Amino acid sequence: MGLDIAFQPRNACAMPHDHHDHDHDADHPHSHLPSDPALRVKALETVLTRKGLVDPAALDEIIDTYQNRIGPKNGAQVVARAWSDPEFNRALMHDATAVVAEMGFYGRQGEHITAVENTPETHNMVVCTLCSCYPWPLLGIPPGWYKSDAYRARAVREPRAVLADFGVSLPPDTAVRVWDSTAEMRYLVIPRRPEGTEGMDAEALAALVTRDSMIGTGLPKEPAT
Ligand code: FE
Repeated sequence: MGLDIAFQPRNACAMPHDHHDHDHDADHPHSHLPSDPALRVKALETVLTRKGLVDPAALDEIIDTYQNRIGPKNGAQVVARAWSDPEFNRALMHDATAVVAEMGFYGRQGEHITAVENTPETHNMVVCTLCSCYPWPLLGIPPGWYKSDAYRARAVREPRAVLADFGVSLPPDTAVRVWDSTAEMRYLVIPRRPEGTEGMDAEALAALVTRDSMIGTGLPKEPAT
């Protein structure tokens, strides 16, 4: 059949993997991903469907769920609440998995979530250097760039240059801390609450929270003046 599926486990976030003993140099084996992963996914889906191992309707349902019913608006609700309720924020920092599960955000790819809070001293940014681990129940399906070789390599090596590409410039004395996700730990960045948002309710606050601000490659929107 000529299909090379040896690459597959590298992309399978369900598989635990160890990020602690590999370095991030140019010889990283994961840079040898297929040139056209989408084509290979399609090929695999076709083979699995023909063999009766997957039901295409079930796949469509899963994709629709994560694209339309689950998405960054879930994470935005968490951030808005963290901004307006110090007690909630404390609990979130202590055990984000439990706190967001209580809000109904749990499930596949959301088993172990840590919230990391931006401060004037530290800006947090999230990557998965090995594949594309991501907190699906809070942010939906990861954007294409998050899974790209370039982002995965550069986020660690030159985070400020990556931020500049996203149009984010931080004060020079703000440190950038990069978190490498794994299947065992996924991160939600709590961006800093924008100035001029005093008195805004949770819904209005959530509308300022962008997906990228919860990955750390963006900042929240400023309130309309
Ligand atoms: Fe991953």
